[in-house]
Amino acid sequence: MDGRVVLTADRTLMSKYRNHVFLGFSSCAPSNVIPDWLYSFLFFPPVESEKGVVAAAPYGLRKIEAVLLSEGFKTVTVDPDHLHLYLRDADILGVYAMDPFGLGPASTTLTAFTRGEPFLSRYFRGLLASKPVQEAKRKGLKIIIGGPGVWQFKLRNGFLERYGVDCVVDGEAEKTIGEVIRRLLNGEKTPVYYTVPVEETPSLNEIPVIKAPSIGGLVEVGRGCCRGCRFCSVTLKPLRWIPYDRIMEEVKVNVKFNRSITLHAEDVMLYGSSNTIPDESKLLKLHRLVKDAGVSLGWSHCSLAAVMVNPRLFRELASIILENQAWWGAEIGIETGSPRLAEKIMPAKTHPFKPVEWPSIVKQALGLMHDNMLIPACTLISGSPGEVEDDVVKTIELVEDLKSYRCLIVPLFFVPLGRLKNEEWFKNFKPGGVYEELLIKCLRHDLHWINSIIEIGFKDSWQGRLIRLFYRLFVKILEYNFTRAGVLAR
Ligand code: SF4
Repeated sequence: MDGRVVLTADRTLMSKYRNHVFLGFSSCAPSNVIPDWLYSFLFFPPVESEKGVVAAAPYGLRKIEAVLLSEGFKTVTVDPDHLHLYLRDADILGVYAMDPFGLGPASTTLTAFTRGEPFLSRYFRGLLASKPVQEAKRKGLKIIIGGPGVWQFKLRNGFLERYGVDCVVDGEAEKTIGEVIRRLLNGEKTPVYYTVPVEETPSLNEIPVIKAPSIGGLVEVGRGCCRGCRFCSVTLKPLRWIPYDRIMEEVKVNVKFNRSITLHAEDVMLYGSSNTIPDESKLLKLHRLVKDAGVSLGWSHCSLAAVMVNPRLFRELASIILENQAWWGAEIGIETGSPRLAEKIMPAKTHPFKPVEWPSIVKQALGLMHDNMLIPACTLISGSPGEVEDDVVKTIELVEDLKSYRCLIVPLFFVPLGRLKNEEWFKNFKPGGVYEELLIKCLRHDLHWINSIIEIGFKDSWQGRLIRLFYRLFVKILEYNFTRAGVLAR
């Protein structure tokens, strides 16, 4: 065996999401609202490919591809519908998993009302069960799975054996994956579930530059987070900021395919900083460098506290970003409107402000974003251990106070991760209770803003203008269904 590796991900992950990465959330929805073909056409159409080799792939898969190529493995990243062309000659299939059983916070919330199975878990299972994969498996193919959702395999006994998965790798795998593949190829004993130990976490210089474009033009600018929220697994990793030259190499790799770059870190506002205070000169330099490549720009995540530490800096960054684009997006964690709970589960998320100031920080930061055309997708976490009814009421009040700000608010149910991974799963959702009131409050907020966000987000091209008609129709269908079910009357 000479180590021929095929990398892939299921259809819900191998998509450009119509150039709006945050539409990726749509694959967490249950698959019983509109016909499957229409839903996937609207939200996750296939990414372009040539003879099945994809033009862009999930960022994590591109990192693994870069490592394997540098270690001499013949590696190709392939669209899931074209696997039959490549698996006949492959030794290894590497599959990227985001939320393989729909147990992630977004999926559990979106399926709370309807009980349907989310698209992403259906497509993931479908990929492993597909004829090309199972035929190749019978002929000796080894299957490895990695990605942020692999923790879920520990909760599904028998699944790995049923589908012939040889190894699941949990964690940052850059230093590990080559060795796992060599062991499998040599027939050596390999653990079925391998958690990457701290000493195998790649240092800054061991994180490779991707060799081909990523979905959404994602370019990692940092790994890890210094805030230490108790429900979060990211915080268990060391903090590393990627230097400008390597960021720009990845921008160059991407501009061949993407005119839009998404800077990725847990908090882009803290680029280059070792604490919770933004480093003004590094941030300005980063944005200037990337914008001078002639691209439009978005952020994967930023924190509200870092924005409010220096509103002038935020406005300056906005003016650089908005030089040749009308808006930009980011995912933002509000999590709770209760200062008491904020102090308990995420005291450093509010830093350098005090937890008691949190609701006011949230309002001011979202106002600033509204004025500067940052359209955030905000998350709330419902059902954290120790949360009481009054905490939920405070969150509901905060959502009411955010009525006039252009943003989406997505309530997520608590999933035991990070330092809280041994806690009970959230089970308190009862129709008619405060949690339902919170869900409905967020739904009303989102329905109020969604059409204007669609209008802003899809006005740049004729395809965009056409597709927004379909999105508006989809929103109408949703509204009709919720009204018919009596949800919006409550
Ligand atoms: S939730 Fe966000 S801010 Fe908190 S530790 Fe995780 S990545 Fe950092």
